[in-house]
Amino acid sequence: MRHWPILFVCVFIWSCSNSSKNESQKSTSEIDLKVEALIEKMTLKEKVGQMLNIGLPLILEGDYWSGRDSAVFHEAKFKSLITDYGVGSIHNTPSYPAQAKEWQKIVKTIQDSAIANSRHGIPVIYGIDNIHGANYVRESVMFPHQIGVAGTWNTELSKKVGEITSYESRAASLPWNYNPNIDVASNPLWGRIAESFGEDPYLISKMGAAYIEGSQLDGLNNQNSTAVCVKHYLGYGAGRNGKDRANAILPERVLRQYYLPPFKAAIEQGAKSVMISSNAVNGIPCHINSYYINDILKGELGFEGVVISDFSDVEFLIEAHQSATNMKDATKMAVNAGLDMIMNPYDADIVDIIIELVEEEKIAMSRINDAASRILKLKYELNLFEKPYNDSADFPELGGDNHMASNYNVASESITLLKNKDRILPLGKDKKVLVTGYASNSLNVLNGAWSRSFLGTDTRFNDLSKQTIKDAIANAIGEKQLSFVQGTDYTQAIDISKAVEKAKTVDYIVACVGEMPATEKPSDINSLELPEAQKELIKALSKLNKPIILVLIEGRPRLISDIEPLVDAIVMGYLPGQEGGRAISDVIFGDINPSGKLPYTYPKYSGNTLPYYHKKTDIRDVNWGYNGFYPQFEFGHGLSYTTFEFSDLVLNSDKLKGEENLTISITVNNTGNRAGKEVVQLYLKDLVARVSPDSKRLIGFQKIEIEASTSKTVSFSISKEQLSHVGMGNKWIVEDGDFELQIGTPGSLLTKTFTYKN
Ligand code: BGC
Repeated sequence: MRHWPILFVCVFIWSCSNSSKNESQKSTSEIDLKVEALIEKMTLKEKVGQMLNIGLPLILEGDYWSGRDSAVFHEAKFKSLITDYGVGSIHNTPSYPAQAKEWQKIVKTIQDSAIANSRHGIPVIYGIDNIHGANYVRESVMFPHQIGVAGTWNTELSKKVGEITSYESRAASLPWNYNPNIDVASNPLWGRIAESFGEDPYLISKMGAAYIEGSQLDGLNNQNSTAVCVKHYLGYGAGRNGKDRANAILPERVLRQYYLPPFKAAIEQGAKSVMISSNAVNGIPCHINSYYINDILKGELGFEGVVISDFSDVEFLIEAHQSATNMKDATKMAVNAGLDMIMNPYDADIVDIIIELVEEEKIAMSRINDAASRILKLKYELNLFEKPYNDSADFPELGGDNHMASNYNVASESITLLKNKDRILPLGKDKKVLVTGYASNSLNVLNGAWSRSFLGTDTRFNDLSKQTIKDAIANAIGEKQLSFVQGTDYTQAIDISKAVEKAKTVDYIVACVGEMPATEKPSDINSLELPEAQKELIKALSKLNKPIILVLIEGRPRLISDIEPLVDAIVMGYLPGQEGGRAISDVIFGDINPSGKLPYTYPKYSGNTLPYYHKKTDIRDVNWGYNGFYPQFEFGHGLSYTTFEFSDLVLNSDKLKGEENLTISITVNNTGNRAGKEVVQLYLKDLVARVSPDSKRLIGFQKIEIEASTSKTVSFSISKEQLSHVGMGNKWIVEDGDFELQIGTPGSLLTKTFTYKN
């Protein structure tokens, strides 16, 4: 009798979780059979129609880029594209963030018509840029940008972000997310670092896979899941001049060692689609690189999902890359290179072009069958044939307290304490504080781009119940204790002298500097320096000799080497999203013990922007020594309000051979007086290799929480694969010889060597 309530609870939970699954979800082979049968019945035009992805504004009243406050379908365009062309897919927003209910109406109208007018009842698949939460759904939560999620070094949180994003996206009938971004951000000038998981292939792979796991929960066997689209394949983050869509120079070895692994991990995790990068690598536009798409992605990595182009990128082959003479030429190369779906926002001409190319035998029918099958399979997997849209009322958690709490957790765990001179932080709440700076009182700056609007600068869509940094500090210490002076805009001084005057009356200064929300082309910059006016503010305030807490709200690392010595503490907020103001204030006043770690190397000089993995020759200095690596802050760096000590590093053996695993354990002691979270980082250094070895490479990490004055033992099991690197023949190998392990956190790494023999 005592046990029946437990049994009842179990059955109840089981039935609830089962009821959220698609009742009609079929096994993969059943889906394959359905796809095959469908393809048999489809005409060439119907199949090619599936390959087209247009922008929503194309079928709305008004020009494509018109601002709108309601989505009204343009009858003739709607009929031509949805009914006559039978387009397979749509993306983009009406130009304003619709509420879930309105999204449902938009998608329902499209689906009803697509299904009724297609001979086979094929639904459309709607794609959207859910970059940091379901950011185009008016009620959704907006998480920190991915660079902040990476800063948590907590895979569980990345999974949670994926899960909630999917749920809130499905609440709006949007089943396909153009995320996560798993680009390796190896050039700090690049404006889309904020959307990435940073510079390290291993960290990106782990955080990316966790996000995918959360998004595609139960392999889409769940109405709350969405299909991910990992992007941008390949080398987008390596543009040589740091500009958006710039050419990258990536020799095969480098590509395989650093840029490919996150995609491999994503595909192993079951990522359902991949977006091709707009840029060129070694001068070859990725969209026509058959070796990258057909041979590596679909061949070697065995990717069976959908490959989609980036925005208007077949056209880009003509105008920008100058690699094709006209649309026909460009389309032929792209489809033959392995592109399954073409994001051609502005018209359907490409359908006619592809049909012509097939009729002229310049594209094989088998290629079209393959592309259309991949797309149809995804539609079946998402259960769109039976449930082409959702009822937003079935998603009561949308933007609700639970999701907000998760958002706050992610934001607070991402905040990275970079400097804390004389342990000035946390501040007491009884003190007087001046809050100043460009980033101090703006929700838009906290949210960055892709926030209700593409560039995230539109203030009309802000949720005024959310707190800026200034609001949150006012709540923490009370209005009376707070002074606020804006000080500067992004590039212009506003009232720096007023800020200095006010600063004379307070105990502490919290100066919040940062970047203007931007992405893609508008995010290109020519210098990594923070704008002069923002640095001027800090310089002027520093003359008072009052303690300054510098808060950085930025997607990429902007140089601060001349103001760093003038401040006492530095708090990195990244682009922390809607709960960022609260999270930053809670770190400053100690309600949260910070535990974020940098997911990239913070450079000190514009002429020295190496990632932490580099060659010894890269850091040879003017005295012929090897001290020429000058980060402002190292990759993996982040302080806590408690202290951690590492000890007892033990390996199960110092001689390893063949396929044997290496077991490593280390004890982490919280020697401070409050509980805290620490990231135990495991780096490997190959001491000698024919391909000059990297300074070190992250091969493992674990985030743990430890109570004050207690310790925990952490262990890692390392396989041969983790010791390998891409050798001279461009294959992954392990050379016999000595290796060094470095474990702990930067600045306090314990080391041990071992020998490996094949
Ligand atoms: C971006 C992609 C995005 C796509 C669709 C492109 O300009 O590069 O990341 O997914 O637009 O909006």
